Amino acid sequence: MPFVTTTEMFKKAYDGGYAVGAFNVNNMEIVQGITEAAREQHAPLILQVSKGARAYANHTYLVKLVEAAVIECPDIPIALHLDHGPDFETCKSCIDGGFTSVMIDASSKPFAENIEITRKVVEYAHDHGVVVEAELGSLAGVEDEVNVSAEDSSYTRPEEVEEFVSKTGCDSLAIAIGTSHGAYKFTAAQCTRNEQGVLVPPPLRFDILEEVSRRLPGFPIVLHGSSSVPQEFVKMINENGGRLPDAVGIPEEQLRKAATLSVCKINIDSDLRLAMTGSIRKYFAEHPDHFDPRQYLTPARANIKAIVTHKLIDVLGCAGKA
Ligand SMILES: [Zn+2]
Repeated sequence: MPFVTTTEMFKKAYDGGYAVGAFNVNNMEIVQGITEAAREQHAPLILQVSKGARAYANHTYLVKLVEAAVIECPDIPIALHLDHGPDFETCKSCIDGGFTSVMIDASSKPFAENIEITRKVVEYAHDHGVVVEAELGSLAGVEDEVNVSAEDSSYTRPEEVEEFVSKTGCDSLAIAIGTSHGAYKFTAAQCTRNEQGVLVPPPLRFDILEEVSRRLPGFPIVLHGSSSVPQEFVKMINENGGRLPDAVGIPEEQLRKAATLSVCKINIDSDLRLAMTGSIRKYFAEHPDHFDPRQYLTPARANIKAIVTHKLIDVLGCAGKA
């Protein structure tokens, strides 16, 4: 199966009450860990590349790595998506360079300007058979070159979504309902603590999601910043020389609920970073004399595969849906 767009994936996900996982890729081991999990679970898959990933690994390397995954996984649909395209030129370069889906993130711009930029990307993308994700509202947190302070973040306003979608022609819409980028999604002051002393964040705004869905029936919604920051990996990092106090994410049961509603794409990046970093730190702590990258990247890749398998089955609900 060659690269696909997300159109068919989202239609099936919407009707089937599940979401497709969108995982960020930066190197070979990450691509392999994710795609081995999706192949085994027979799950549709979105591999996404940020501006930062293109700067780190180079556009051509990333496209070729994902093309290799498509060859190795002939039985599942795979889309290649640009995450947080900052402007028309970046989107155009990905559309011209083999991506099947792009995000234009003009959510920090005024409403009319967001419409204008998104519309321009949609026209070019649709002329080339590529689909477009846009964003309304803005998430707090830090992700590669996207950095929004809690004061500048804002929930999506449901009363704007119909005008935005009809004027831009976008194919899916990322909304802000309380998810956040990075491993530090919330300050301690925004949270309560459970019996283990772990921070519990404020619940997602399902009222906003439901109002958006009511206004856009059948339209695929996207959640960014949806890592859950598994405490087993935070602990693995902290016990092996790292320092990530009070890292906290979105509870998985809330994401599971969102996936049964109109949310068709859920972005997960930080959890894979934590799995990889924890695995490597643990390996080095246990084997201070080793220096072969294959040795410490093998458990890192295996733990990426394990966490993606868990997400596909227990959070996204997309296992067996390819
Ligand atoms: Zn994002």
